[in-house]
Amino acid sequence: MKCEKCNAKAVIEMPALCNKHFTSYFEGKAKKTIKEFGLLEKKDRVCVATSGGKDSLTLLYLLKKFGYDAEALAVDEGILGYRDQTLEFLKDFCEKNKIPLRIFSYEEETGKRLDSTVEPGKPACSTCGTLRRHLLNKHSKGYDKIATGHNLDDESQAVLMNLFKAQKKLFSRQGPKTKKMRGFTQKIKPFYFLKEKEIMVYAYLKGLNVSFAECPFARLSYRSQVREALNEYESRNPGTKENIVRKYLSIRPASHQDVRSCTGCGSPCSGDFCKACRIKAGFALES
Ligand code: SF4
Ligand SMILES: [Zn+2]
Ligand SMILES: [Zn+2]
Repeated sequence: MKCEKCNAKAVIEMPALCNKHFTSYFEGKAKKTIKEFGLLEKKDRVCVATSGGKDSLTLLYLLKKFGYDAEALAVDEGILGYRDQTLEFLKDFCEKNKIPLRIFSYEEETGKRLDSTVEPGKPACSTCGTLRRHLLNKHSKGYDKIATGHNLDDESQAVLMNLFKAQKKLFSRQGPKTKKMRGFTQKIKPFYFLKEKEIMVYAYLKGLNVSFAECPFARLSYRSQVREALNEYESRNPGTKENIVRKYLSIRPASHQDVRSCTGCGSPCSGDFCKACRIKAGFALES
């Protein structure tokens, strides 16, 4: 297959582009998202929520390449044979590129590893996601933004998941940038319009040493069912994922949240205790 711009050998299809033109397409799309949605200013101090996987490591690489003052923040959930492995890739990358890295673990925060709290064969993503958001927010004070590697696949899945489960609050909070709210570091997603496959190809072309390990809990999640169905639909109707997020942005409802402070940890929340404190209390009772 030939590049549609210069006739050289294409490294990717739809659009069919060679190495040089794909690189400028990819970087141009990320830059456009940053500019169009006002994700970052050059003076911003940004921390990238990284795991060592392809999305977050590629994002860290790209933000440094674009000249941003980016540092890495990682969360170790305590998933044996998975997170310990991806964190090695991350440490290696940060060391080689002289990027400051801080790692925080569930075990330090709650006294337990994630894999010790989940029964075999049971889903873990809801607990895991709550604790990760809590730790990222807690340890990103002092930064202007937290950047995450969420891509078009993740975001189109999230729109459908929140719709299917009628998660009204979550549904209104998606998009390339979260709103400014007291107690929350603003989250940004420069890869919002880039496909997972495109990130994979870019990481490969740039020679990034990223981990492709998959979390053992991932296949049990509701997300994995939605991912499968959406991939199938996209292959029959190319452009579906982008259509979903673009339509979503055009109808996104305003989010109104009554922000209070958690009685346990002081984090912002909508009730007396935040969800992370309720999970920690549950873990303490079990031990
Ligand atoms: S797949 Fe689920 S359990 Fe595994 S790291 Fe992601 S959110 Fe956590
Ligand atoms: Zn070309
Ligand atoms: Zn709390």
